[in-house]
Amino acid sequence: MTMRSRAAVAPHPGARFLFQNVDLDSPRQDETLIRIVACGICHTDIAARDGMFGLDFPAVFGHEGAGVVEAAGAEVVRVRPGDRVVISFASCGKCSSCAAGHPAHCMAFDDLNFGVTRPDGSSTIHDTNGAAVGCCFFGQSSFAYHALAHERSLVPVDAGDDDELALFAPLACGVQAGAGTVLNELKPRPGESFAVFGAGTVGLSALIAAHMAGATPIVAVDITASRLELAGELGATHVINAMEHEIGPRLRELVGPVDHAVETTGVSRVIDQAIKSLGPCGKMSMLGVSHEESHQQVTPQRPGPNQRVFYSIAGDSDPQKFIPYMIRCYREGKFPFDKLIKQYPAPEINRAVKDSQDGHTVKAVLRF
Ligand SMILES: [Zn+2]
Ligand SMILES: [Zn+2]
Repeated sequence: MTMRSRAAVAPHPGARFLFQNVDLDSPRQDETLIRIVACGICHTDIAARDGMFGLDFPAVFGHEGAGVVEAAGAEVVRVRPGDRVVISFASCGKCSSCAAGHPAHCMAFDDLNFGVTRPDGSSTIHDTNGAAVGCCFFGQSSFAYHALAHERSLVPVDAGDDDELALFAPLACGVQAGAGTVLNELKPRPGESFAVFGAGTVGLSALIAAHMAGATPIVAVDITASRLELAGELGATHVINAMEHEIGPRLRELVGPVDHAVETTGVSRVIDQAIKSLGPCGKMSMLGVSHEESHQQVTPQRPGPNQRVFYSIAGDSDPQKFIPYMIRCYREGKFPFDKLIKQYPAPEINRAVKDSQDGHTVKAVLRF
């Protein structure tokens, strides 16, 4: 059994998204069918569309889905039809990382999130001629009016209506990654200094979380004036426009050595400056996806003996706990991530991508 829906298909690497009719499988025993209400656009979607992960095409991406459960397989216990859910990354639920409450470090993470098929190799999406389309991106492929997802990926949320639910979509990845790496991994104490390199969704979410934790001073580094202005509204005590200043010397001049840093640009020259800005016991989390050609790359400074520089996956968050926590903080007025969001009608996906790449929009969210 299949159902007809519409999805934004990436036809081949680098091409624009194309909305077309698709046939979606019925949910299996442990799967759910979700009517997608909204989906955020993350840089990982754009990198996937551009062929950076070497995935098979055509494919449907989108991994910050929020929607309403329409149908659930017989073994599904977490949700019922009618429930409003945010769809986060997939994890196996069986390995030692999952058992220890670290699903972002799931040993099957790459297969489940970048496999573009179900684990058994089948596809949940076919074109109208019956040919398989890449699916299950981050366990969902939510650039579509409907998606199938395993129940483990679903986080039930108490959104009052579809508009509030749409607001929560980016909590599934970008906002969770930025806030999570600060609150779960770096854990700044009040009065410790914090710097973020790149004031996009991940960087600004990290900044809001650092502000919430009492870190000060807080510095935001970017090349877009409007993003730096927003950083100031969200708690940055200092901003550096890297088009106007050399990052390292300006940071030292403004705040001295940095205790905690979050690097989101993936640009090796910035990574180098960020490591050089750390204090003797400084810690830095890296979440950027590199778009650099190898000839542009700079070999970054090695961290000192008591410094710690690490790659973060999804801020080591457990979505089942962390997404409801972020929603509580938002409702208490401490976590104003809604300031990052601009909504677009789903058919305008290519304009939304362009605005994100230009830096005009921080977090584009598609409404279906
Ligand atoms: Zn696992
Ligand atoms: Zn993402």
